Amino acid sequence: MTIAGMENVEVFTSEGKGRGLKATKEFWAADVIFAERAYSAVVFDSLVNFVCHTCFKRQEKLHRCGQCKFAHYCDRTCQKDAWVNHKNECSAIKRHGKVPSENVRSERGLWGGDCEGIPKARGPLVSTELI
Ligand SMILES: [Zn+2]
Ligand SMILES: [Zn+2]
Repeated sequence: MTIAGMENVEVFTSEGKGRGLKATKEFWAADVIFAERAYSAVVFDSLVNFVCHTCFKRQEKLHRCGQCKFAHYCDRTCQKDAWVNHKNECSAIKRHGKVPSENVRSERGLWGGDCEGIPKARGPLVSTELI
């Protein structure tokens, strides 16, 4: 899914009901109306050994983080990109000797936040399998 602007919808205000989105063109079923980057994303516990922890690509041979042995990456670029967020998780895993569940890891992503431009807000867990 590509991140797109909201050129096909407009925001409107309805007295007493709040704001809403109105389509400015006809859509078909399964058309993407707009998409945004996720506030936070983690790999499901069941997939930690099978997908890249940065781009979520499924790949047979993944590079494993040499320090925590938990995080997996498809290549060095994804590993480098992840480090700013993974370094705290990595040292916590090494310190405690075990990996927290996907729900705990997701909460850390939402609240841990020295991620520039990412709002610190609580959001529901969303499965990428549905996208
Ligand atoms: Zn990757
Ligand atoms: Zn690590």
